[in-house]
Amino acid sequence: MATETLLSRSDCPEHQRLRKQLNGLLFTYRDMLAALDNVSTIDEFEEAYERAEEVHLLFVRTRFDLLIHIQRHGCTTIESLERKIAAATF
Ligand SMILES: [Zn+2]
Repeated sequence: MATETLLSRSDCPEHQRLRKQLNGLLFTYRDMLAALDNVSTIDEFEEAYERAEEVHLLFVRTRFDLLIHIQRHGCTTIESLERKIAAATF
């Protein structure tokens, strides 16, 4: 259900901004995890892992901000209604 919410589209600028930020953080985190395979020492690994975890925490916080925004603003509810109207029309 959370994934569906994150993948949904909205015309709300703040919703779009948060979703864009969330996607950026997700890709950055994924790349940073992949880069862990290329480190040669345990110290390098721990340093790279800590940096990746900072991005991960930012991702979790931004995801929370988006969910709170949706709850307060109701922009997904409006969009769901629009989707239902569109589905009924076509
Ligand atoms: Zn909104």
